[in-house]
Amino acid sequence: MNNSTRQGGCLCGQVRYTVPAKPIETVVCHCRNCQKQAGSAFSVVAFFQRDTLQLTGELQTFEDRGTSGQKVFRRFCGNCGSPVITDTEDAPAMGLIFVKAGTLDEVDDLQPSLHCWVSSKQCWLTLADDQVQLQQQESL
Ligand SMILES: [Zn+2]
Ligand SMILES: [Zn+2]
Repeated sequence: MNNSTRQGGCLCGQVRYTVPAKPIETVVCHCRNCQKQAGSAFSVVAFFQRDTLQLTGELQTFEDRGTSGQKVFRRFCGNCGSPVITDTEDAPAMGLIFVKAGTLDEVDDLQPSLHCWVSSKQCWLTLADDQVQLQQQESL
């Protein structure tokens, strides 16, 4: 990481990307689909301006649907299976792209500002009181 950009990639390294150092927003999504896709309790998603993402390597896409019926394109490395990018039907119009933040090379400074889908949060997990918690929202 330098001052202006940071890098990330999938587990096997076939997919690599560069994004701005500072995400617009970092969100923790506790929706069941993220739990399934990540094989974990939640996913951490960093928002970036769409045109700032530079990606090399090949991603495969699983077309999922959010609760609103909006298509959610879950993009992952076909070799190692790491979920890398989430895209939605609305994202191009918003100028945003969503990166699975666990794939960033450096994650120590990430500061999630928001938790969504707290309604399906796993019950063993306690969230800090000072973080915004939405019961639902679009799945990422
Ligand atoms: Zn990979
Ligand atoms: Zn989700």
